[in-house]
Amino acid sequence: MKQALTILGATGSIGVSTLDVVARHQDRYEVFALTAHRNIVRLAEQCRVHRPKVAVVATAHQVDELVTLLRQQGQTAYPDILWGKEGLVQVSVADDVHAVMAAIVGAAGLEPTLKAVESGKKVLLANKEALVMSGALMMETALRSGAQLLPVDSEHNAVFQCWPRVGAGVEKILLTASGGPFLHWSLEALSEVTPEQACRHPRWAMGRKISVDSATMMNKGLELIEACWLFDVPATQVEILIHPQSLVHSLVGYQDGSLLAQMGHTDMRIPIAHALAYPERHGSGVPLLDLASTEPLQFMKLDRLRFPAVRLAEEAMCSGGGAPIVLNAANEVAVAAFLDGRLRFDQITSVVERTLNEVIRGTCKDLESIAEVDQAARAQAGRQVGGYAP
Ligand code: NAD
Ligand code: MG
Repeated sequence: MKQALTILGATGSIGVSTLDVVARHQDRYEVFALTAHRNIVRLAEQCRVHRPKVAVVATAHQVDELVTLLRQQGQTAYPDILWGKEGLVQVSVADDVHAVMAAIVGAAGLEPTLKAVESGKKVLLANKEALVMSGALMMETALRSGAQLLPVDSEHNAVFQCWPRVGAGVEKILLTASGGPFLHWSLEALSEVTPEQACRHPRWAMGRKISVDSATMMNKGLELIEACWLFDVPATQVEILIHPQSLVHSLVGYQDGSLLAQMGHTDMRIPIAHALAYPERHGSGVPLLDLASTEPLQFMKLDRLRFPAVRLAEEAMCSGGGAPIVLNAANEVAVAAFLDGRLRFDQITSVVERTLNEVIRGTCKDLESIAEVDQAARAQAGRQVGGYAP
């Protein structure tokens, strides 16, 4: 029987790559639902090609917009069209759905992702912010419901592939980081960075928010927290390793001195195909790396002075409770302000640090308490951004 998929965030970078892999295996998968937030034109085109049973948009107005576009295509059979948060939750928990690709960016993806976990789905997790915010709650919910949580983030997918099937013996996780576009830039030069420069990642083509996170290295900070939850290790057991070529996607170091690594081209279809097919394997559309003709591989230490984001994430993870929620919320506010031209690049991590120092962290035992901390942090981060206004 075919596996029915819901793709949350279908119109984004991960969503598009997921549909590319799915289209290569029409005998195995069918698309149950596709969701979009702004790009209704792309969603209409995806509906034409992939024929989902349901499409979810953000507003009632967009429902009309999508119907008009589908009519213009001359479609006779339309998907059901839902809108808003309830629509996202509905397609994440629907009985017909086997697996949910969680590829909405940021906190907006938390509720549908958590509901998919709660209803015992196979959840392919790209939306790292959802796990950073809900941590123990998401992991305990998965344990209770029997949901399978499979990492799509390339580093965590690599660690998952290198993780021992039985027993212990792991000494540490080494998360690789390309270093982003400003790896060798001075502190002074970092204050002049424009959104266009920050979004031009040297190795990966990604959405704008994660591109900025990669440039500040907050992406690696969020990934450190993500790794702690997914693999149940303390932050002290996770090391960040700069690897500009981005061909080794991460490693697991064992007590016997073995280092296991996963390698491949910088193409998210590899981890997506792995998670979709798991525990089997099938094609992703990406060829094997030709090691004899790749550039030499380099590995180096992270410069924590120029890139303080990883330290902030380590501290947030170690202090526990709602601190990672504050870190994530402040970062989302600061990145949006930077992309809008209201904040300098080097001020992003300052806003995060100041917000972490000022917001009471509370607990995160359910969606309501998480939302409370998230909102308090957003309000405080907004004030911090205002304080930096030119
Ligand atoms: P993107 O900006 O390209 O796409 C985001 C998707 O989320 C879009 O479909 C958009 O419609 C939807 N969305 C945005 N705001 C929304 C809201 N408020 N409500 C509902 N839907 C909303 O982002 P992306 O690069 O595809 O990243 C998606 C997630 O995957 C992020 O959490 C990112 O950190 C993670 N991730 C991405 C990559 C990558 O290579 N792009 C790699 C690893 C992890
Ligand atoms: Mg990653």
